[in-house]
Amino acid sequence: MGIIKTNKVTFEYIRRDEEGNVEGITRAVDEVDLDIKQGDFVAILGHNGSGKSTLAKHINAILYPTEGTVWVDGMDTQDETHLWDIRQEAGMVFQNPDNQIIGQMVEEDVGFGPENMGVPTKEIWERVEESLKAVGMYEFRKHSPNKLSGGQKQRVSIAGVIAMHPKCIILDEPTAMLDPNGRKEVIRAVRALNDVEGITVVLITHYMEEIIHADHVFVMDQGHIAMEGTPREIFSRVDELKKLRLDVPQVTLLAHELREKGVNLPEGILTIEEFVEALNECR
Ligand code: ADP
Ligand code: MG
Repeated sequence: MGIIKTNKVTFEYIRRDEEGNVEGITRAVDEVDLDIKQGDFVAILGHNGSGKSTLAKHINAILYPTEGTVWVDGMDTQDETHLWDIRQEAGMVFQNPDNQIIGQMVEEDVGFGPENMGVPTKEIWERVEESLKAVGMYEFRKHSPNKLSGGQKQRVSIAGVIAMHPKCIILDEPTAMLDPNGRKEVIRAVRALNDVEGITVVLITHYMEEIIHADHVFVMDQGHIAMEGTPREIFSRVDELKKLRLDVPQVTLLAHELREKGVNLPEGILTIEEFVEALNECR
């Protein structure tokens, strides 16, 4: 079994009126099956309201399935005796870094998680140091988080999760509120955690460029998995992506349209370098 496994997970939000009568039901997640191996870099794509955040909240037991089962490292998330193990093993990073930072100083903020876990003081400082180094924020350890840029704050949030020594980290649109530079910084840090530290990454995003390096991509639509495959497989299906209201990277789209006009280019071009090379070959 993978580090994260779900079996036909369904989740329904139930709206009630003041008297408590059911007003409506939204099926936000619909029979989702995931099987994510330790060390994988997985991306989840989907337009707004497709159920990505609801699904993500199941992985660290913030929400429980209406039907189906979620296992983290073999532990059923509905088993209360494992709640804290699950929260420690599967760390979560949200969209808005301002809501996640609580400390007055960067290093204090990062130490908060391990301190709550009861980690001995000396080890907390070791973890703070290694976590800040892993996201390239060590030189800011004495700074006030308020004065950092969005990308820096988000990297501090990530360090705070890493300091808990999770096996896996789930990032729910961590770059949505950042400028292009901040986005790059955060994605670089996330890739390094996966490559260097071997931490399993689940990255939720709607920026296509951010999924290019993923091992596997799931595309959600109306609560279910509409497409899955490697980034190249996914980007070879331009027309389907458009139907799911997703933007394809400019270079992929250009190659696709040239191909439709008869230019001999392969489907699923992901980068400018690949495009130039493929174009060179068909001259
Ligand atoms: P995404 O993260 O892909 O934008 P969400 O998981 O936030 O999608 O939402 C999936 C669906 O569930 C949407 O239809 C949304 O309106 C609904 N939803 C999300 N959160 C709640 C909530 N707290 N109460 C009721 N409905 C919700
Ligand atoms: Mg969301």
